[in-house]
Amino acid sequence: MRLLILTVLLISGVRAGDFDTWFTGATLRVDYFHSGTAEKEYFALDAMYKTGTWSGARVERVTPLNLGEYQIRMYDVASGTLLYSRGYSTLFNEWQTTAEAKKSFKTVHESWRVPMPRKTVRLTVARRDKQMRFREIWSTEIDPALPHLIHDKPHRPAYKVWPLMQNGDPSKKVDIVILGDGYTKEEMEQFRRDARHYNTVMFDTEPFKSHRKAFNVWVVEVISPESGISKPDKGIWKDNALGCAYFTFGSPRYILTENNKALRDAAGLAPYDYINILVNDNRYGGGGIYNLYTTTYMRVDQPGQEWQMDYVYVHEFGHAFAGLGDEYYSSSTGYDAFYSAGVEPWEPNVTALLDKNNIKWKEFITPGIEIPTPWNKKEYDRLASARAKLDRLAPDYYVKREPYIRKQHELLAHSPFAGKVGAFEGAGYESRGLYRPSVDCRMFSLSLVDFDPVCNHALVRVIQYLSQ
Ligand SMILES: [Zn+2]
Repeated sequence: MRLLILTVLLISGVRAGDFDTWFTGATLRVDYFHSGTAEKEYFALDAMYKTGTWSGARVERVTPLNLGEYQIRMYDVASGTLLYSRGYSTLFNEWQTTAEAKKSFKTVHESWRVPMPRKTVRLTVARRDKQMRFREIWSTEIDPALPHLIHDKPHRPAYKVWPLMQNGDPSKKVDIVILGDGYTKEEMEQFRRDARHYNTVMFDTEPFKSHRKAFNVWVVEVISPESGISKPDKGIWKDNALGCAYFTFGSPRYILTENNKALRDAAGLAPYDYINILVNDNRYGGGGIYNLYTTTYMRVDQPGQEWQMDYVYVHEFGHAFAGLGDEYYSSSTGYDAFYSAGVEPWEPNVTALLDKNNIKWKEFITPGIEIPTPWNKKEYDRLASARAKLDRLAPDYYVKREPYIRKQHELLAHSPFAGKVGAFEGAGYESRGLYRPSVDCRMFSLSLVDFDPVCNHALVRVIQYLSQ
């Protein structure tokens, strides 16, 4: 027994020392332009900054998670050793799945955040090919000793920063930073209330509830010149600090920002692993991209609909935090074809069921359950298509939608398969050919239902990865 303890200590000791051998303990933020078309992509460095203490993984520096459309990898040039890697997805790769990408050339400003190396390193981007295997597609060498290469002082906007939830050293915790967009100086008290409310909502939801000690949460009081955010489809344009806007990829409710520099400067005021943006506007909407950020609308246009914002905040975090895929399939999106037919998606909670006996969540499958698992899909689809015919932006939309949503909830909650794990057809924006683990989940229906066991496990795995 004593020998075993000694061995464990030794291994962790070597690992910790290892980090300090290669890295200074600061964060290197590498800004770059990610450009191209539906078929092609290019990377070009913009600027590099030394920012605060490295709050990301120190133990499992080479990602064990196999999540994301891309991986950023850092190699020691002298020895070729892989020092660090992390999976991520981007607005750019989502844009590549839109009709617009087939006929135009676009650039998106993005950042990689990696531990600051002591010696010359090679940063390499890997992207999944059609078979979902990572292929290295671009790389650049960085010599941190060059005096002109890395800015020592990134722009620090004069926003107030405060800790909302503190549980320890950022290098051993998951650090979330909450930013506001579309809040004026006069609306800051409202922003503080919103930040507290949504943080409570998240840590009242499993698995965050029982792992709250693994998290720190920071708040940055981002001040916008104007209240609200842009709605390009309505001809409404706002001067909001982080540049969030509705109508991303032509979807009225999809909120993203392309003002990456402003976003990173504001977030960088706190140590962070994840960014949640609260959007001070009242049209239903949000967004969440793996290891990028989440957005959630914060005002309702009709009383009684506040619960939907609670739903969105936690749902989007599922995307950004653990790369969970959308399990719903009956709402319209801006994507042309998000998943390629006949290819197993990398998302932990969506499967193309190419090998029935080897489903990626097989350890969670309810013994004896039929695969694919039959469910009341026909009836659910009938309700969904009637609901989809309603005008989302009409003033009586919620009143008209209510009976459909209630019947859909009843159908899922009373399903003989409620709470069980199998492979239910209908997921990832596809009615056919893609399957989800459970009949219902926070990634499936518009409701306050919990994450299913597969999603829950994926979330817990990331909490462990970042908090050791
Ligand atoms: Zn979603």
